[in-house]
Amino acid sequence: MRYEDRQARAAALQAEQGLDVLLVSDLTNVRYLTGYVGSNAVALLAGDRRLLFTDSRYVSAARAQTRGVEVVQAGRDLLQRVAEAAADAAGGGRVGFESDHVTVARHTRLAELAQGCELVPVQGLVEGLRVRKAPEEIAMVREAARIADLAYEAVAREGLAGRLEADVAWALEGLMRAAGAERASFDIIVAGGPHGALPHAEPRREAIPPRALVVVDLGAVVGGYCSDCTRTFATGPLPEDLAHAYAVCLEAERAALAACRPGIAAADLDAVARGLITDAGLGDRFGHGLGHGVGLDIHERPWVRPEGTETLEAGMVVTIEPGIYIEGSGGVRIEDLVLVTEDGCEVLTTSTTDLVTLG
Ligand code: ZN
Ligand code: ZN
Repeated sequence: MRYEDRQARAAALQAEQGLDVLLVSDLTNVRYLTGYVGSNAVALLAGDRRLLFTDSRYVSAARAQTRGVEVVQAGRDLLQRVAEAAADAAGGGRVGFESDHVTVARHTRLAELAQGCELVPVQGLVEGLRVRKAPEEIAMVREAARIADLAYEAVAREGLAGRLEADVAWALEGLMRAAGAERASFDIIVAGGPHGALPHAEPRREAIPPRALVVVDLGAVVGGYCSDCTRTFATGPLPEDLAHAYAVCLEAERAALAACRPGIAAADLDAVARGLITDAGLGDRFGHGLGHGVGLDIHERPWVRPEGTETLEAGMVVTIEPGIYIEGSGGVRIEDLVLVTEDGCEVLTTSTTDLVTLG
């Protein structure tokens, strides 16, 4: 990991924005820039001066994990030392803070402590660096996707009908950990029958019914990087409306995969899938965006949705996940994780998207 390179790129953007100091407090951004893995830290960038503040619980781990920063022990709320160092480095100048990630209370306190400095809200500076993945990041995502594929092989082998949703979810999490995942990248969704009509259904202690659709959405974390993949299975012959919904969703997903390439606007990519679902008369059943970026966070930029403003670039990792949800009947979502390449995209999650009927 080239943490020093990432810090230098952030410092260049900081200078471009006329900031004497940049305070990075979002823990994912801190991890991306420094390697710190823990729950309490703030990074301070001031040109070549790069500090990481953390409390006593993490100091020795932080010294081992991080590159390119001097680790400074501070009190539990960090702010006193951070403000002193910021005021010192900025010399009454401009101190950028991550306005998406700082509470009003902490901002107030920082303003009191760093008197004489101008606090400047900064949005998306480090997140912007994170959108295009480096080869070492892609390798982690790829491995996390491979582990998700293993989970779907297990589903196909072991079946679904009659099992409790919660038991299936727990078994899949165990399988992914045994295969090398640090953890699941989010709470696994297993939703059978009408329950699958909720896009964010939580697994229940209820048996999965026959002749239904079952939505399974899961991902693994490897080296801090997430995967994300959804498959929808049938537990027997389906009623006409659900079979039709699956066919439409799959057509939309395939069309979006075919259109996914550098240069396409995220909103236009969303429209490819949404247009097909709308033409099939199911547009009002697809209430969420087509996809999202995936990396150290399970949901991150770019946002692939109607109001998305970004354009896809090579090196981005995004999901393509159209869904159709029919209240009282069931849901279907088909989600793949893809790497945008120089001339198209590579699908990283490889289990079949054809409708698989399991016992
Ligand atoms: Zn998902
Ligand atoms: Zn997703």
